[in-house]
Amino acid sequence: MLELSTPVQYIKGVGPRIAEILATKGISTVDELLHYLPFRYEDRLNPRGIAELRAGEMATVIGEVRNSGLFRTRRMPIFQLTVGQGRARLRCLWFHGAYLQGKFTPGQMIALYGKVEQDRDGELQIVQPQFEILGHANDGANGAEKKASESLEIGRIVPIYESAGQGHLTSRWFRRIIRTALENLNPDLPEPIPAIVRSRLRLVSPREALWRVHWPEAGESFEDLQSSRTPAHIRLIFDELFFVELGLELKRRQQKAQTGIAFRLDGGVRAAIKKILPFHPTAAQKRVLQEIAADMEKPYPMRRLLQGDVGSGKTIVSFEAAIIAIENGYQVALMAPTEILAQQHYFSARRILENAGYKIVLLTGSLESDRKREIHRHIAQGNAQLVIGTHALLEEKVEFSKPGLVIVDEQHRFGVMQRLRLMKKSGDGQEGSRALLGTTGSHTPSQKGTRVHTAVAEPDVLVMTATPIPRTLALTLYGDLDLSVLDELPPGRTPIVTRRVADDRSPEVWEFVRKQVAAGHQVYVVYPVIEENEERELKAAIKMYRELSGHIFADFKVGLLHGRLDPDLKEQVMRMFQKGELHILVATTVIEVGVDVPNATVMVIEHAERFGLAQLHQLRGRIGRGAAKSYCVLMTGGKVSEEGERRLDAMVRTNDGFQIAELDLELRGPGEFFGTRQAGMPSFRVANLIRDRPLLEPARREAAAVVAGPNAEVSPEELRRALVHMRGRWQRTYGLVEVG
Ligand code: ADP
Ligand code: MG
Repeated sequence: MLELSTPVQYIKGVGPRIAEILATKGISTVDELLHYLPFRYEDRLNPRGIAELRAGEMATVIGEVRNSGLFRTRRMPIFQLTVGQGRARLRCLWFHGAYLQGKFTPGQMIALYGKVEQDRDGELQIVQPQFEILGHANDGANGAEKKASESLEIGRIVPIYESAGQGHLTSRWFRRIIRTALENLNPDLPEPIPAIVRSRLRLVSPREALWRVHWPEAGESFEDLQSSRTPAHIRLIFDELFFVELGLELKRRQQKAQTGIAFRLDGGVRAAIKKILPFHPTAAQKRVLQEIAADMEKPYPMRRLLQGDVGSGKTIVSFEAAIIAIENGYQVALMAPTEILAQQHYFSARRILENAGYKIVLLTGSLESDRKREIHRHIAQGNAQLVIGTHALLEEKVEFSKPGLVIVDEQHRFGVMQRLRLMKKSGDGQEGSRALLGTTGSHTPSQKGTRVHTAVAEPDVLVMTATPIPRTLALTLYGDLDLSVLDELPPGRTPIVTRRVADDRSPEVWEFVRKQVAAGHQVYVVYPVIEENEERELKAAIKMYRELSGHIFADFKVGLLHGRLDPDLKEQVMRMFQKGELHILVATTVIEVGVDVPNATVMVIEHAERFGLAQLHQLRGRIGRGAAKSYCVLMTGGKVSEEGERRLDAMVRTNDGFQIAELDLELRGPGEFFGTRQAGMPSFRVANLIRDRPLLEPARREAAAVVAGPNAEVSPEELRRALVHMRGRWQRTYGLVEVG
C-alpha cells in the first residue's frame, strides 16, 4: 500500500532511471506525482466525426490509420498521414516530419488533437496534431491487460500530461503510472483541513480530488476541466493556498509578539509634523499616515507596505513617519535603490526638514572613506537623526545608536539578497550587531555606557513600492506585511498625454520639444540600455546626446546621465536639471525610479518597444508631476513584436498603474512579473496566482480563523494537524521561509 510520502521508486513500473527523470520534474514522492496534473483533457467520450469537423475549431478525432508517408518539397520534408472513419478521411501534416517515418501502420487506431484547417482545395486537414497511437483496430480482446489499458485511452475524458525526459516518459506513461499509484494508494488519506473550513467551502475529500482531477467522471463539465474549475481542482488549489496563508498568518502573529517601540504621538509630535508640510496632504495621504502612526504607537514592531502609484506622494508620508520617530528621540534610516534617488531624497529632506532643526546625513557607497567614517561616527553617536542612503546602509559597518524606524523606498528595485536580508534581519533580530535591523541589542560599542539588558526592541519598518499589485496578491506576496494604499494623486495634475510615433518622424518630435522648452519646461530623452547589450547601447545613447546637444538643440543646455558616470558628475548633472539649469536631460533608465522634477513635462522614450510595461510606466511617472500639461512620446524603431504592440497600446490607452500592472501580469505571467524566486514567493504546484485569485481571499480568511483557534469551530486536534501539515509544506515547497 502506498502512502503520500512513499518515494516514487516503490510504485510498480518506476525504476531508478525513471525516478531520476521524475526528479527533474520535482517529483520524488507519490504525493508529488499525484500533484502532477494534466495540463489539458481530451474528450474521447464524444470524439468528433470527421464529417462534422469545421475549419477553425480545436478537435479530438479518433480514427484508423489508412496510409502515411514522407514527401519532399523544395523547402522541407513533410510527413503526411491519412486517417479514416468509415468512408470519411482526414489528412494530417507534419513539417520536417521525417522522424515520424515508420511510426504508423495501416489499421492502427489513433487519437488526434489539433486545429482543423482548410487547405487550398477546401479540404480539411490538421497540421502538426498531437497524437496517440491507441492500438490496432483488429486487436480485439487479446488479453485482459490490453483491454484495461484501452479503457484508459478512449471512451472517456482523458488526461493529457506534459511528457518528461525528452519524450521518454509520455503522456500515456504518466496516465498509467498515476493510475497505478491511485489504485494502490492508502484509501485513508489524512485530511489536514479542519471540517468547518471544508464544509464552508464545500471541499471534496483529498482522495476524491486526486481521483477526479486525473480521471474525471463522465458528467464533468469539459469547460470546468480545461479551466481548472472542477470541485477536484478547487480542492487541490485551495489546499495549496490555504497552507501558504496559514504560514503567513502565523508569521504576522509572531511579528506582533516581538518587542517593538511604542512611539508617543502627542500634541507636540503632531505640531512638528504640521510644521513641515509644504502642501495640504491628500485624503489618501492622511489616511495612510494614520495607519502608519497607529502601528508606530503599538508596542510591537511595525511591518508595513505602502503601495502607491508613481507620483502619489509617498515621500512626504515617509517624512511624516520619520518625524514621529525623531521626535521620540530615535534615529531613522531611509534606504533608496539608487544613488541618484538617495541624493534626491537627501536634498528634499534637507529642504523640508532641516528648517525644523533635524540633523540629516547622506551615506552612499561612493563617498570617500574619510567622509564615510565621519558619517558612521555621527550615526553611531546619535547625532544624525535621519540617515539617507543606498543599500550601503545595510551592507557597511553602520551602527546606529538608537534606530527607531527603517524606511525602504521602491522596494521592488532591490535585489534578491537585500530583500531576504532585510526580512531576515527584521524577523529574528538575532543576527549580529552590524546590520541596521536587529542592531538594537546591547552589544553595540556606542551603547557600552548605557547598556540595558532588557529585551531587544526591533525598529519599525516601512516599505514603499510603486508596483501596484492587486490587494489580494500583495497580501500573499508580501503576506508578512500589513498593507496601506495611496490610491489618490495630489490635486492639480493634468493627465499625461501619451503618443506613439515611429522614429522616422523624429524631426516633428524635436520640434515639439523645442516649443516646450521655449515655454519654460524641461524634457527627458530616454534611451534603453539593457545589460546584455550595454556597451553598444550606451554608445548609441552617447552618440545621440552629441547629436542633440551639438546640432539639433545647440542653442539649449543639454545634459547626459547614465550609470557609468562618476558619482560626483551624476550628482552634479542631476542637480543642474533639478534647478532648471539644463533644459534637456538625455538619460538611460537610471532615472526610472523616484526622480522628481515637477517642471519636466515631456518625456521622449527612444526604442520604447524594448522596454517592459512596468518600466515604461515608471519612466513616464517622472513627468506629470506639476500642474502643466505633460507629454510622453514613445518612439519606436524597426519591427515591434505583437507583445510589444500590446505594451505600447496600453501605455497610450491608460495612465492607471493598476490597469497597467494587470496587463503586465497577464503578458509576463506571475513568475516574471514578481521575479518569483527573487521576491521569495512560493512556487506553487497546482495553484496559479492569476487564475486562482478568487480563491486567495477565502484562503486568507479561513487561515486567519483557524489560527485564532482552537475554539468551538476548530478542535485542538484539527489545529495541531493543520499546523504540522503547514510546517511540512513550507519546508518542502517554499524552502527559504521558516515558520514558527
Ligand atoms: P512617489 O509616490 O512617486 O514617490 P513623490 O513623493 O515623489 O511621489 O511625490 C510626487 C510629487 O508630488 C512631488 O513633487 C511631491 O512634492 C508632490 N506632492 C506630494 N503630495 C502632494 C500633495 N498633497 N499636494 C501637492 N503636491 C504633492
Ligand atoms: Mg518616490
